[in-house]
Amino acid sequence: MRIVINGAGIAGPALAYWLLESGHEVLLVEESPRLRSGGYVIDFWGVGYDIAEKMGLLPRVIELGYQVQEVRFVDRDSRRRGGFSTGVFDRMTNGRFTSLQRSDLAATIYRALDGRAETIFGDSVAGIRDAGDSVQLDFDHAAPRQADLVIGADGLHSRVRQLAFGPEARFETALGYYVAAFEIEGYRPRDELVYVSHGIPGRQISRFSMRDERTLFLFIFRDRYLAGEAPSNERERKSVLADVFADVGWECPRILAAMENSGGVYFDRVSQIRMDRWSLGRTALVGDAAACVSLLAGEGTGLAIAEAYVLAGELARCGGDHVAAFARYQDRLMPFLQRKQDSAAGFASSFAPGSSIGIAFRNQVTRLLRIPLVADFFIGRDLRDDIVLPDFQF
Ligand SMILES: Cc1cc2nc3c(=O)[nH]c(=O)nc-3n(C[C@H](O)[C@H](O)[C@H](O)COP(=O)(O)OP(=O)(O)OC[C@H]3O[C@@H](n4cnc5c(N)ncnc54)[C@H](O)[C@@H]3O)c2cc1C
Repeated sequence: MRIVINGAGIAGPALAYWLLESGHEVLLVEESPRLRSGGYVIDFWGVGYDIAEKMGLLPRVIELGYQVQEVRFVDRDSRRRGGFSTGVFDRMTNGRFTSLQRSDLAATIYRALDGRAETIFGDSVAGIRDAGDSVQLDFDHAAPRQADLVIGADGLHSRVRQLAFGPEARFETALGYYVAAFEIEGYRPRDELVYVSHGIPGRQISRFSMRDERTLFLFIFRDRYLAGEAPSNERERKSVLADVFADVGWECPRILAAMENSGGVYFDRVSQIRMDRWSLGRTALVGDAAACVSLLAGEGTGLAIAEAYVLAGELARCGGDHVAAFARYQDRLMPFLQRKQDSAAGFASSFAPGSSIGIAFRNQVTRLLRIPLVADFFIGRDLRDDIVLPDFQF
């Protein structure tokens, strides 16, 4: 089949990889003029880690990854108030856990395509007409094309979803936070392999020291701190962060001053996408476009890779019957994704606690995570993927 995939992030190239393995012809369309670089750091483990191993990507993923040693919560004077050694993650995942930049993971998957998928950068699917036996696609720039299937792998704010299923508001559940991230070169202090966070009620800032003198900063804050519309450009994003974090203390004045010279501030609502179907005719969704779990799950990339693997696997098993394959893909994964979404939403209040008591409780609990029974109770359920994926033959 000729299959067009909109979005070359995590899910798109992973799906392209498995579709190529089964002999399909793939066109990837990515709105960014080139593969995105930089950006935030993700934790990577679970079913997606297993699939990455099947794809032969683990050596590179581990090379690019950071084996974080500690998560540390500090007060405004940088004194340790809570946190835990990440040995707890290693123990629960049998050492199959790493952290790396999302863009490094995306590039690693894309490279595995080895030039076998045509890719159009700087463009997007802009129109979908399902003709029953094929689908006619318009693009923002490229000439129209005909395909057998079109897949939306274009993330949380998916355009394919909007074109085929309706407006985002119908599927989005906002979890009550905004998130922002950017990186700076040469920031001091550095704490190698330690994820350092400081929070006051409703607002939290974290920093992580990366290679090449870079430091990643992650801001989380409750949506009540943002009056009015979300910022629409870089200048507005910086101005919102400077306002919201002005009185947070700790290293904030230094970080906010350094932010002025940084490029590429990521800023978005923390949301999930919940749908009751992931396909319609010859169109299907994968990754965040279908079932964004949000950063609170800490597993969106792994899940996107797993979804891509199952979608391609079911298409291979159903021998070209895309209706049956889409149904099996959804039946196999939707309940699992819904459980992941529920547990991430349940975790929302402890992510950037809204009160001093909440922060003190979070700090206390995280100190106790070194006790295996406590760790099992608080994070074991979320870390384990209660699903076994088939061993598809491509
Ligand atoms: C701050 C933050 C922290 C996170 N932490 C973690 C973590 O620790 N662990 C984890 O596993 N996950 C984490 N996630 C979630 C993870 O990043 C996503 O779940 C994952 O990237 C989803 O992959 P995807 O391919 O579906 O979407 P994306 O990675 O968002 O890729 C979508 C791609 O589509 C492109 N695109 C968008 N619109 C169009 C269009 N109209 N036309 C063409 N292309 C388009 C985009 O440019 C992008 O390349 C985090 C997310 C955030 C925001």
